[in-house]
Amino acid sequence: MFGQMQDSPLLVSQLIDHAAKVHGHQQIVTKTVEGHWHEYTFKDAQKRSKQLAQALLKLGIKDGDVIGTLAWNTHRHYECWYGISGMGAILHTINPRLFPEQLIYIINHAEDQYLFLDTTFVPLVEALLEHIGKVKGFVIMTDEAHMPETKLPNVHCYESLINAEDGDYVWPELDERQATSICYTSGTTGNPKGVVYSHRSSLLHSWGIAGKEIAELDNNTRVLPIVPMFHANAWGLVYATAMMGAKVVLPGPHLDGASVCDMINRYDVNISAAVPTVWTMLMKHLEESGDKLPSLDSVLIGGSAVPRSMIQKFHQDYDVDVWQAWGMTEMSPLGSLNKPRPEDLKLSYEEQLDIKVKQGRPCFGVEMKIVDDQNNELPHDGKAFGRLLVRGPWIIKRYFKAQEDATDAEGWFDTGDVATIDASSNMQITDRSKDVIKSGGEWISSIDLENAAMGHDAVLEAAVIGLSHPKWEERPFMAVVAKDPSNPPNPDDIRTYLESKVAKWWLPNAIEFVEEIPHTATGKINKVALREQFKDYELP
Ligand code: ADP
Repeated sequence: MFGQMQDSPLLVSQLIDHAAKVHGHQQIVTKTVEGHWHEYTFKDAQKRSKQLAQALLKLGIKDGDVIGTLAWNTHRHYECWYGISGMGAILHTINPRLFPEQLIYIINHAEDQYLFLDTTFVPLVEALLEHIGKVKGFVIMTDEAHMPETKLPNVHCYESLINAEDGDYVWPELDERQATSICYTSGTTGNPKGVVYSHRSSLLHSWGIAGKEIAELDNNTRVLPIVPMFHANAWGLVYATAMMGAKVVLPGPHLDGASVCDMINRYDVNISAAVPTVWTMLMKHLEESGDKLPSLDSVLIGGSAVPRSMIQKFHQDYDVDVWQAWGMTEMSPLGSLNKPRPEDLKLSYEEQLDIKVKQGRPCFGVEMKIVDDQNNELPHDGKAFGRLLVRGPWIIKRYFKAQEDATDAEGWFDTGDVATIDASSNMQITDRSKDVIKSGGEWISSIDLENAAMGHDAVLEAAVIGLSHPKWEERPFMAVVAKDPSNPPNPDDIRTYLESKVAKWWLPNAIEFVEEIPHTATGKINKVALREQFKDYELP
């Protein structure tokens, strides 16, 4: 017998309707691309999302059509998330930091019908124009006063487009399995791959992350999602903030330390989310200016491993708790989050840090296991490490337009990460499988070495790759950006520092100072580029 409860579909349009009805006066604040502050409410956002849906219908957009966005975190982009997906079209958030060839590939692969873009990206899109001929038109996300001169054809002004509509619109009742959105992984090797989310997976993910175990959102929280809406869905915060009626502060393109500090203090932000590089910029600003962050309670950090020194500094200097998160585009993106258990809080601070550097426990909705090369499951003892596999209703089944599923026969998806899991179910990423250094048949974690080096006072950033070695197959090589490039520390000094942190046979064979470490479009260390840069380097 089936249950006899109401079987209404789970749709993202319900989130903005709920927010407008129950938290109608809650604010959404944006530091706009034009540079001024814009404030309005969930009620306004709902109306304008509906106006956008009406405008799309007038442009001839049908159910299942794909609309690309090249945009910062702003109220207009927030409206696109609801207006486009809510009316049955598919939102394709494009990462503008990708290379032009990758942008051309994904715009064509996704078959974007229209592109919505911030004024910032007009020159970028103009340069791609002759290669994206199937795009029917362009909507520049600004008002008439700020419309730039452009050679883009069939171009519209966002504000004029939606202001021609009255917002008197009822969202269609879609199938919950219908696609809401597409996000491409940055694809450091090969072409980017598209991940297609559904209304159902988006809502389940939102429920999964909103509560106490993860983002702790409610009507009283003031959230600053710095992680871009084009990178792994701003970690689900567009949907989850509406679900819980949290106040939203959107940074637009203003991501430097001084701007982030100003936003946090001006709007009393208590929770923020971003990759480690953003926090490094903020820390630098705070150290130089002496500014403080009195309202900030917690920061969600993920996308790359969080250095121990960052967790410590946030806690000791600013009384801010770091919640390390792990996930990936293929997982909507949340996989796990690190929050202390009551017994952890009884430990010394150093012991708590040993736990906090881990990537944490999965929330309900994500199953995890680690396996060896023969697919045998490995024990959860915090020592055995192997390929990390995941399964759950907001995790990918098949890449967009792929011929085969991305999962095995039992539905497990291989994350490409190598990890340990301890007896408390805390998972720790050892490395990406393609980045572990294989030295004499043993594995060295490049992430552990990087994190250890970043605790050195004179080190701003460190990146470790394996370079080939005649005797050991591979040995670690470390590139370092010094905090003060005119006065870098002695490499031996860094080696001595590392000796107390990692096994002796892990110590890098060479440490070189560089001006800059290359990063990917999602802010991770670009190890492919680094390996290319040092491919002829001869290790001692
Ligand atoms: P892309 O692959 O497009 O750069 P993703 O954000 O989807 O973007 O990358 C997911 C990967 O990022 C994970 O598989 C993992 O390797 C890495 N990652 C994410 N969060 C963490 C974390 N907290 N610690 C270590 N690695 C992380």
